[in-house]
Amino acid sequence: MTTEEIVKQAEVFLLDMDGTIYFDETPIGDMSSTLAALRVAGKRLVYFTNNSSKTPDEYEKKLKRIGLWGEGDLVYTSAMATIEYLQTFHGGKSVYLVATDAVKAEFSAAGIALTEEKPDVCVLAYDTSLTFEKLKKINKYIVEGALYIATHPDDVCPSKDVFPPDVGSFIALLKVSSGKTPDVICGKPYTVMGDCIKRRMRVAGDKVVMVGDRLHTDIRFGVNNGFHTLLVLSGETKAEALAASPDRPEGVLPSLNDAARFL
Ligand SMILES: [Mg+2]
Repeated sequence: MTTEEIVKQAEVFLLDMDGTIYFDETPIGDMSSTLAALRVAGKRLVYFTNNSSKTPDEYEKKLKRIGLWGEGDLVYTSAMATIEYLQTFHGGKSVYLVATDAVKAEFSAAGIALTEEKPDVCVLAYDTSLTFEKLKKINKYIVEGALYIATHPDDVCPSKDVFPPDVGSFIALLKVSSGKTPDVICGKPYTVMGDCIKRRMRVAGDKVVMVGDRLHTDIRFGVNNGFHTLLVLSGETKAEALAASPDRPEGVLPSLNDAARFL
């Protein structure tokens, strides 16, 4: 399909955030108008992130603050996909969760039984309040045989400063200490989060487009899940990196703002 055809026929736009619609607190170009035009054209917008250190409410507040939020929009994080995965396949099991307090509260509110002792399942989220005690506990529990789930695999988190370690770096640490790697990873580029969002939005894969600036997470995610894919060159990926990559997006745009002319 051409880029124009993808934009015209997609019903659900999964939007990566950093590098795709904003940088930190600054929208990319006139993103507010672009997103408004997509809504007017009947597109459903999902802010779709691997970052499991924040709750959807925290993201919604940020998107409102910078003028991008609109009626009917949805935030979907890898933590939300992990909650749905636990509810669907491991209902009633006890979970040791490495996460921020806000994300822990999100899991509890969804009815996940959190425990500090003898868990059936360990979940590793992006815990920006990580401590040695937490690392020691999750290491012990996965060595003892608990199911090991990670919310997402990103090695580092985009930042204006030096990129800080993200869950992929914690996974690497735990592999050295425990010899184990996650049994399941829920976020991009894997299929758990794709299955969840299709169910949530009640939509077929060929009516979904993943829009993002990262080839090995956003674009690979779209391909792995049978979604259309649009790479935007407004963030991490430059044209030279695209030429050298095995990950092939269906369409490429300088930024998401360039999609508006196809509506
Ligand atoms: Mg990005």
